[in-house]
Amino acid sequence: MTNGQVYTNGAAHSKNGHETVEDVIIIGSGPAGFTAGLYTARANLNPLLITGNEYGGQVSITYEVENYPGFPESLSGPELVEKMKTQAEKFGCRVEFDYVTEIVTDQHPFLVRTANGKEHVTKAIILATGARPRYLSIPGEKAYTGRGVSYCGTCDGFFFRGKDVVVVGGGDSAVEEGLFLTKFATRVRVLHRRDQLRASKILQERAFQNEKMEFIWNTVPTEIIGDAQGKVTGVITQNTATGAAGQLDTDGVFIFVGHIPNNDLLKGKFDLDEDGHLITDRYTRTNIPGIFAGGEIMDKVFKQVATSVGQGCSAAMQATRWLEEFESHGVIDLQTDPRQFPHTKVVTA
Ligand code: NAP
Repeated sequence: MTNGQVYTNGAAHSKNGHETVEDVIIIGSGPAGFTAGLYTARANLNPLLITGNEYGGQVSITYEVENYPGFPESLSGPELVEKMKTQAEKFGCRVEFDYVTEIVTDQHPFLVRTANGKEHVTKAIILATGARPRYLSIPGEKAYTGRGVSYCGTCDGFFFRGKDVVVVGGGDSAVEEGLFLTKFATRVRVLHRRDQLRASKILQERAFQNEKMEFIWNTVPTEIIGDAQGKVTGVITQNTATGAAGQLDTDGVFIFVGHIPNNDLLKGKFDLDEDGHLITDRYTRTNIPGIFAGGEIMDKVFKQVATSVGQGCSAAMQATRWLEEFESHGVIDLQTDPRQFPHTKVVTA
């Protein structure tokens, strides 16, 4: 059954008059994106990967990656990203440093517009736009960002050599980055809104053993304050159990209170959950035929480099299979949600 929105294959030129119709465009340059690039390149699809503004995604601001298999000596996030890029390019993935501003999904081939004024047309898309740090949204946070407020210990830790810092959050990021900051700061106080960390046990143990780390439980910052020169001097706090207000003097505030998915491109076109993640099925299919997703844009649970790599791989394999079927079968219906069909049914018309 179709509703008339049927598109056929074999278009040498898109209906917008573009010369080249890509087989697949990958949006995003984190582990999911580069893995999708590697797999679609090895499937001879000549993929085009558009990096986005945050090249490498969140792993690129990670000082040390200890839990990505195959690297027992560990390596830095930027090193891992470069290796992934090199490996994808080796097999023909084209990497463009550009930012996608719009995806037109009510036509096929799809149209992808970029910040550099380019228009690409493509039969398939893999969304790997990832996530970004969540803000606390308290007074002073925005005003002092870059002046003592930071979301990246790896990037900014060096500036806090011999200084005192506060870390906000109780997850893996807060504890891992807090530990990293002890290399520079004289003291790292972790403010957590509960009396128990969410972070993994191994990180907790390391943090509890580190003499420079202290924990302030049941506490949230309510305001970040600074001096006349515009530098952070402290945080106003509130005890979540008693409601009591307090103040901590500090030189820096590092905020790690989770992430929000980069879904600006996707709103209104794709099914998103209440937190804004893409809703895919287990085969990485979105609600639009020919558009797949991997990594933190669709994963609200695991969020590891290893899982993003796996999801990028799955999306690439599914896209490859979908393209093969589309080329031989010939028609799709953009209005038909492919996720309702079994995995074996690839084409939606
Ligand atoms: P997360 O696990 O969601 O933790 C966010 C933390 O911030 C939680 O402790 C949360 O408190 C706290 N929080 C949230 N909103 C807050 C607010 N408004 N005020 C104060 N505190 C607030 O985020 P994450 O640490 O960035 O980690 C994200 C994912 O990446 C996780 O799956 C994590 O395992 C993974 N990750 C892994 C590694 C690693 O394996 N080495 C490193 C970094 C991240 P509650 O605990 O009370 O909810």
